[in-house]
Amino acid sequence: MTKENEQNQEKDPKYPFRSEKLLPREERVVRFLSTLQDILGAKIYNLPLDTYLGTCAKCNNCAEQCQVYQTSRDQRDLPAWRSDLLRKVYKKYFTTSGKLLGRLVGAEALTGEDIDNMVDAFYRCNMCRRCGVNCPLAVDNALVTRVGRVILERLGFVPTNMTVSTRAQLGEVGNTSAIPKAAFIDTLDFLEEELRDETGIAIPIPRDVEGAEFFFAAPVSDYIMEADTLLGIAKTFYAAGASWTVSMENFDAINYGLFYSDADLEKVLNRLLEAANSLKCKTIVIGECGHATKVGLLFQKVYGRPEYQGMNFKNIIEVSHSFLTEGKLAFDSTKNPETITYHDPCNLGRGSGLYEQPRELLKAAVMHFVEMTPNRQMNYCCGGGGGLVVVEDLHDWRMSTAGQKKVEQLRATGAKLVCAPCANCKKQIRELVHAHKLDMEVVGLHDLLGKAIVLSGKA
Ligand code: SF4
Ligand code: SF4
Repeated sequence: MTKENEQNQEKDPKYPFRSEKLLPREERVVRFLSTLQDILGAKIYNLPLDTYLGTCAKCNNCAEQCQVYQTSRDQRDLPAWRSDLLRKVYKKYFTTSGKLLGRLVGAEALTGEDIDNMVDAFYRCNMCRRCGVNCPLAVDNALVTRVGRVILERLGFVPTNMTVSTRAQLGEVGNTSAIPKAAFIDTLDFLEEELRDETGIAIPIPRDVEGAEFFFAAPVSDYIMEADTLLGIAKTFYAAGASWTVSMENFDAINYGLFYSDADLEKVLNRLLEAANSLKCKTIVIGECGHATKVGLLFQKVYGRPEYQGMNFKNIIEVSHSFLTEGKLAFDSTKNPETITYHDPCNLGRGSGLYEQPRELLKAAVMHFVEMTPNRQMNYCCGGGGGLVVVEDLHDWRMSTAGQKKVEQLRATGAKLVCAPCANCKKQIRELVHAHKLDMEVVGLHDLLGKAIVLSGKA
């Protein structure tokens, strides 16, 4: 390829995910293979990857479960086709049969064009894991997508707003939106005033409380943009008489590393664990956020430093649900008279098994609850999963191809409110509601709990 052709290709919209560290084309194949080798050598990956990349019945059951493929009917959105991009490389370089028999067993040498195709394909997957539910071989195509993205990041292909946000979070300012600490303190003061004005009670949002039972962290956007969710959470902790705290050093639960890099995931995770440890807290409670919950539940044992292994991760929904079952919460459901439906965030549902707890909380706090169809394990992703909701280049694709099934589901409920207890899902579904002119609003679970909760005799 001439230099000019190469430059033209690099300007192709197929390459929206380039960092300043993009490797020259001639170095990419070698780096790709050495990174894959490292990943295969890592304890957490070698067994699952051996399984997922070693087998596929080519039955295409997964295709009919994938909402992206159901809408686009585009080969690039076939889950098994996408995984094959990595599978054939794995077979060629890392299996004896592939080395000896080549294409006969689906093994093929890696080319620069294959890498181009992967950049495109691995960022057309929501990593929602719906395709794995009915796979006869239990292949996790979302994990293959994730590994593909981790390799591509080492070549310099990554959505730059994710890496820029992570850099801010790991730097002095300590959060992905680069909000100065003083502004954050003002925000918490403002929220406390709101609580006092609304309830007549001095409900605190405690800060840096040593030894608190619950160390709380939410996506930074929640403190600023989802005030009702935060107010509902503060009211819930207050009503239950629980001791909790927000850390001034680490209040942002976001961990974009889940979507592109184990190295960044590990650093962000340990920063959070360190902040909880320094306040002598044993339970980290993640706010209404799916991916940060999944990071805690899945990766603490693997990447958390040894001194932090005694800590627990929970999502706020689990905590509020246990308050409910312990009889610590009471609700006046007439405060939520609208018809309300529930969206199962992929990372809370298929990712963490939280299906019934949010429903039991909702049924206690609202008058009319209707299920979306399908739901629970078979629910459709919002269409912005896998971190794609923050990739503005993909906005139109998220509104049409990736989000279409969600729009159809939402419309069929006839509900006026959709409860989506995940910051990413809230953003994506709000954009869908706007783009498709749906007559509904998006709320968090604790927004609804906060409206109906009975506090010291006051409703
Ligand atoms: S359902 Fe499973 S076995 Fe069948 S094509 Fe998809 S990944 Fe392969
Ligand atoms: S993880 Fe979700 S978006 Fe990706 S291939 Fe599977 S069903 Fe489709």
